[in-house]
Amino acid sequence: FESLGLEAELLRAVSEQGYSEPTSIQQKAIPVILEGRDIMAGAQTGTGKTAGFTLPMLQRLGEQRPPDGRRPVRALVLTPTRELAAQVGDSVETYGRHLAFRSAVIFGGVKINPQISKLRHGVDVLIATPGRLLDHAQRGTLDLSQVEILVLDEADRMLDMGFIHDIRRIMKMLPPRENRQSLLFSATFPREIQQLAQQFLVRPERVEVSPRNSTVELIDQLVYPVDKRRKRELLSHVIGAGYWKQVLVFSRTKHGANRLAGQLTADGLNSTAIHGNKTQSARTRALSDFKNGKVRVLVATDIAARGLDIDQLPHVVNFDLPNVPEDYVHRIGRTGRAGQEGTAISLVSPDENKLLKDIERLIGKEIPKESLEGY
Ligand code: AMP
Repeated sequence: FESLGLEAELLRAVSEQGYSEPTSIQQKAIPVILEGRDIMAGAQTGTGKTAGFTLPMLQRLGEQRPPDGRRPVRALVLTPTRELAAQVGDSVETYGRHLAFRSAVIFGGVKINPQISKLRHGVDVLIATPGRLLDHAQRGTLDLSQVEILVLDEADRMLDMGFIHDIRRIMKMLPPRENRQSLLFSATFPREIQQLAQQFLVRPERVEVSPRNSTVELIDQLVYPVDKRRKRELLSHVIGAGYWKQVLVFSRTKHGANRLAGQLTADGLNSTAIHGNKTQSARTRALSDFKNGKVRVLVATDIAARGLDIDQLPHVVNFDLPNVPEDYVHRIGRTGRAGQEGTAISLVSPDENKLLKDIERLIGKEIPKESLEGY
C-alpha cells in the first residue's frame, strides 16, 4: 500500500484493517484516481473495489478543503441497493477514521427525517440509492451542485434495476462532467454501460481486473442434476451431510425464498429469507443473524443479495438458476472472496438446461456435473 501514494492517515486505517497487500483492482485504480482522472473499472464485488475508490476519494477530498468551513456534499456514491449503500458507508467510516470527514448513507424504506437533519448538519461524503436521493433533492433538502467526485458503484446492476432515468436526473443536478471526477464501477460492460460512460465520463481510463464475466478462480463450481420436486430434499441433505454451518441460497422469486426458508427450518436447518418485500430492519436483522451464526441458511433473491458483504462465506447454492446468466457470476461471487476458497453448487432440473448452457457460454467453461445417488 505504501507505494500507491496514499497519505499516512489512510495507510494507518488500512493496516488496522489487517490488509497487507492491495488487491489487483486497488493497485490499478488508486494511482489513476489520485491523479484526478475518470475511470471505468471492471470489477465485481469481492475484488476489494470499495477500498479501491474510497481510499483515493478521501485523499482527494482532503487535498482541497472548502475555505470557509462550509460543508457541501463533495463526494457522491450511488449504489443500486440499500445493503450496498450501508456497506460502502461503513467502508468510508472505516478508512476515513483518522480524517475529519462526515459521511451519511441515505436509502429508502426508512424514515426520511433523520436523514434530513443529518444532511442539514453538513455532510462531505454522501452514499445513496437513487430513489431516496431524488426524494431529498425534490424536497430541497439536498444540494449536489458542489460535488467534486461521483462514484457509480455496480452500474450494471443499477441499470438492471431500472434506475437509468433516476441516474440521468441526478446527473443534471451535479456540476458538468468536466468539473468533477467520475468513477464508474461495473461487473459487466454491456452496451448500455458503455453509453452511460460516454455520456457522463471524460476520457476515462479503463481499469479491469479479472477478464470480463469470468468467474473467480478460487470458487469450486458444481452442478447437481435433480428432479425439480426434489430440490429441497436434496438441499437439506447436502447441507446436513456436509455439516455446512453457513450457506447462502439463491431463489429466483420472493415467494420461493420465503417458502424455502420455512421448509428448511422445518427440516431442522435454521433459515431465514431476505428479499425486497422485507422491511429494512428485517433485512438487517436477517443479515446479522446469519453473520453471527444464529441462522444457518440465508435464502435470498438476486436483488436482495447484491452487495451483501459477508466475509469468508464458504457455500453458495443456486436453488434455481438465474434467468440472466450474468447473475450467476454475481451470485457465486458471494463466496471465495478476498482470497478465501468457496464452493458454489447449482441444483439444476431438466427444464433449466438451457439456462445452464447460457451460463456456461458466458463463463467460457463447462461446470462439472455430479449425480447424487438417490436423486
Ligand atoms: P469489496 O469487493 O469492496 O466488496 O471487498 C471485498 C472484501 O475484501 C471486503 O470484505 C474487504 O474488507 C476485503 N478487502 C478489501 N481490500 C482488501 C485487501 N487489500 N486485503 C484483504 N482484504 C481486502
